[in-house]
Amino acid sequence: MTMKPQPTRIRPDTDIYKRRESTVRSYSRSMPRQFDKALGSWLYSNDGGRYLDFLAGCSTLNYGHNHPVLKDALLEYIESDGIAHGLDLHTDAKERFLKTLEEVILKPRGLDYRAMFTGPTGTNAVEAAIKLARKVTGREMVIAFTNGFHGMTLGALACTGNAQKRGGAGVPLSHVSHEPFDGYYGPDVDTADLLEQRLADPSSGLDAPAAILVETVQGEGGLNAASPEWLRKVAKIAKRHGALLIVDDIQAGSGRTGSFFSFEGMGFVPDMVTQAKSLSGMGLPFALTLVRPELDQWTPGEHNGTFRGNNHAFVTAEAALRHFWSDDSFARDINRRAGILEDRLGRIARRHDLQTRGRGMMRGVVMPSGDAADDVTSACFDRGLIIETSGAHDEVVKVLCPLTIDDAELGAGLDILEECVSDVLAPALAVAAE
Ligand SMILES: *Cc1c(COP(=O)(O)O)cnc(C)c1O
Repeated sequence: MTMKPQPTRIRPDTDIYKRRESTVRSYSRSMPRQFDKALGSWLYSNDGGRYLDFLAGCSTLNYGHNHPVLKDALLEYIESDGIAHGLDLHTDAKERFLKTLEEVILKPRGLDYRAMFTGPTGTNAVEAAIKLARKVTGREMVIAFTNGFHGMTLGALACTGNAQKRGGAGVPLSHVSHEPFDGYYGPDVDTADLLEQRLADPSSGLDAPAAILVETVQGEGGLNAASPEWLRKVAKIAKRHGALLIVDDIQAGSGRTGSFFSFEGMGFVPDMVTQAKSLSGMGLPFALTLVRPELDQWTPGEHNGTFRGNNHAFVTAEAALRHFWSDDSFARDINRRAGILEDRLGRIARRHDLQTRGRGMMRGVVMPSGDAADDVTSACFDRGLIIETSGAHDEVVKVLCPLTIDDAELGAGLDILEECVSDVLAPALAVAAE
């Protein structure tokens, strides 16, 4: 192994980004550093800075940065000249991944799915799911929900609520009806009942849907967590009206809410599940659409893609499933930490008369405005904490730290968050307390 030279404490040459990188870049604007190393819950910038990562690649790094078990598996595989790119050919890496998926994830949960390897990003998995639902049912319309986020390609974007993102489409986004998510009209209105009423009414104007596409916790849309009762109702409604239930588990899955799938133990089984983000475990691009076998009605090659066989991701995903999910110790650990997170965020919220949202290790605090939330995340960054916002007005400061974070790191990050919320909302109070 070659030693890297001592870090040179220089600011990056940001001109190259202005000159040559598209203006579409966004995270780099609120975190104007250049990062050169990452390990566990920490990101390091090349000017000597160290940042606790409460964004974790938007929940792509649930097992932290460069987890040694995953890294070793990948290094060993590359060292032995394992297949890197394999179209959809049978490979040793794919066989091992599928077997581990079957043994460690599907069988213990009594789930029977086939794995469709799509293109490597989440939006590809969503695109494949809604395309298959339309093909199988012969229907066009998909029901998605207010504040839903499903990706940037046209089919998935049509299912996404956010107006700025939709505006980038350049063509009409059609064949989707956005129905109110759980709680959209407040606690007294059951929006599942409204959906049932609309679908049962032959004169409501709502066409019979091919699919109902839902996130159990809306990752980008403000951490609204649907109740198990509401989700069970929606699952029943889908069945009653001949629509397929697709759970988009791209952000809420892979342990984020406390179990491997976010819908576990809720008493319903989706027809399809989309996964990406933390599925590879190491931040490698990898997406999957799980489908009930009888729905797997594709003809060979009908939906294809060059990068459906990211074998490096098969290797790290297999290692992650085996290492973290072979028994329930990791899940118990996540749930214990989620309790700490809930308590601490609850304390911040009570102190400033705010609300918290979310479930498991996917929780946040709702600031009075997007600007206030932005001030909090900027202040956090200045104190060495990377954290981002979510929601219709970017008003929710959301904690998405690695699930492997240790208690001391979690506490340290939450201390910074607590201080920054106080500094933004009650500067006088913070000074008095000092
Ligand atoms: C991130 C995300 C997507 C899109 O995934 P990409 O890899 O960005 O294409 C889709 N659905 C949900 C719920 C997501 O969080």
